[in-house]
Amino acid sequence: MTTPKFITFEGIDGSGKSTQSRLFADHLRAQGHDVILTREPGGSPGAEEIRQLVLTGDPDRWSAETEILLFTAARRDHLEKTIQPALAAGKIVICDRFADSTRVYQGATRGDLRTMVDSLHVLMIGREPDLTFIIDMDPATALERGLARKSGEDRFEDFGLGFQETLRHGFLALAHAHPNRCVLVDGNRTPEQIASEIAAHL
Ligand code: ADP
Ligand code: MG
Repeated sequence: MTTPKFITFEGIDGSGKSTQSRLFADHLRAQGHDVILTREPGGSPGAEEIRQLVLTGDPDRWSAETEILLFTAARRDHLEKTIQPALAAGKIVICDRFADSTRVYQGATRGDLRTMVDSLHVLMIGREPDLTFIIDMDPATALERGLARKSGEDRFEDFGLGFQETLRHGFLALAHAHPNRCVLVDGNRTPEQIASEIAAHL
């Protein structure tokens, strides 16, 4: 197997994606790899601007379709300005959330728009990660962790337990649909235990 260069972390809110992205980037850097750590939504100046436009807190500002277009535009900019240049320079790119999050969130909230999400991805993004770690865990524990988190930068959205359960099943379905790309990781352990399992994959 060739070394994966574009690696994403996915999973429900509070599952430890940001924690594990950081730990994995640290681990690869300690091994001498040139690594960039990026995240979505956002990840490039233009995509961060679009993120601010979308996350207004006003549910009537954008239609569901326009919101998907804006997120696709943001991802396109992130890909053009951050991800592709880093890959072209031979770096490993670790991305904290990517297209799978859009698929699962839009699938859970607006299932009827899932086809639009997939078509836009093919048309405007056209790139899947080489490797995706999907952190799976008990939604109740993830919710507690998320609510305990203080940082405003990585804000936590409390959609409630039932919704977290729906999202969890969306991520599990993706993992099963793409077994060559996705690795399921049990997130109900200490950060160090999870990190060492993830590190063992490269
Ligand atoms: P995500 O990015 O998936 O929403 P975070 O990595 O931000 O999740 O983790 C959510 C909160 O839980 C943070 O406060 C983090 O320090 C804590 N945390 C992360 N991983 C673990 C773990 N394995 N066990 C206990 N707490 C954790
Ligand atoms: Mg996070």
